[in-house]
Amino acid sequence: DTATTEIYTFPYTTLFRSIGQKAKAPLEQARATVAKCLGANPNEIYFTSCGTESDNWAIKGTARAQLKKHGKNHIVTSAFEHHAVLHTCQALEKQGFTVTYLPVHREGLVDPAELEAALTEKTALVSIMYANNEIGTIQPIPEIGEICKKHGIPFHTDAVQAIGNVPIDVKAQNIDMLSLSGHKIHAPKGIGALYIRAGLAVDTFMDGGAQERARRGGTENVAEIVGLAKAMETAAATVNERIAKLTPMREKLIDGVLKIERSRLNGSREHRLPGNASFCFQGVEGESLLLMLDMKGISASSGSACTSGSLDPSHVLLSIGLPHEVAHGSLRISFGDYNTMEDVDYILETLPKIIDRLRNMSPLWDAIQAKKVDYDKYM
Ligand code: PLP
Repeated sequence: DTATTEIYTFPYTTLFRSIGQKAKAPLEQARATVAKCLGANPNEIYFTSCGTESDNWAIKGTARAQLKKHGKNHIVTSAFEHHAVLHTCQALEKQGFTVTYLPVHREGLVDPAELEAALTEKTALVSIMYANNEIGTIQPIPEIGEICKKHGIPFHTDAVQAIGNVPIDVKAQNIDMLSLSGHKIHAPKGIGALYIRAGLAVDTFMDGGAQERARRGGTENVAEIVGLAKAMETAAATVNERIAKLTPMREKLIDGVLKIERSRLNGSREHRLPGNASFCFQGVEGESLLLMLDMKGISASSGSACTSGSLDPSHVLLSIGLPHEVAHGSLRISFGDYNTMEDVDYILETLPKIIDRLRNMSPLWDAIQAKKVDYDKYM
């Protein structure tokens, strides 16, 4: 009997172990890779299903932990965060938290002095996005992190748009939590990660099994996690190359587009993602502009991709002080690894003609020309 048991159980156990290990090894390798790309330790990386989940976890998890431990119930964020952050903060407001939405001014930038002035002894968390998804402005993240560190307040940044476009080092940049998402860097859709500094008190967001060191239940999506790690590795290794390639393309585009009468660049020209340019044109309707560009083979967007199809003006454009009439005429062009300078030339050849055609059909443009309305102060 003993011999039979040995014969039948020993090989199976070994077999199952090795199959399990086969899946675990790439999972842990992926964790180490993502950690390395961020300057973090592998035990500080948690895989999630998307950037939205990472934002929810960081914000709700920290807010709840801080309330329980220290009675803190105040959150500081900015007025132009992605809805993954804004709606999460609004949900917490309904549960009794107070939230300060910092202004981002004409340049689309948080003022670190204003942020510091907003902190109170009740502040549980600061969450400021690394780079804005619509107008591409990059916030002074290391400086904000430094202020939070000085005051002992956890600092989260939504870096979904920044990964691969800005060199990131969470320790050097004073970041306690960082959200990222796969699909912005050519990884599969539906995978994300959250960096949580070791030792930071953050409540579990997904209760369940013991996966992700018992902090995020649910069977790991190993194939996508491996895809995310590969994409992160490539994005991080080529970040300086990407900046060097895309910045001149963006600058040429901005110079060319601003020659169009009554056009504006949205947000700081200096502090922006290398491949992002966001504009508004007076007397033009953004949705029509997109359709006409699309017919010419140019894929662009107006507000954020997540809200395209919505006719509400973008909260981001309103937050930088634009009136609805100007915000409705917006255009966001994003360049990636597969674009070239020829694409910029083609846009500059095509766009002014389309703007002219749309303005010729626009009653608002007629009113602007006849000086019945005046939006020039926003340009
Ligand atoms: N945060 C920012 C800045 C984004 O741009 C996005 C998506 O576009 C998200 C969060 C949400 O990420 P996901 O779509 O992976 O949930």
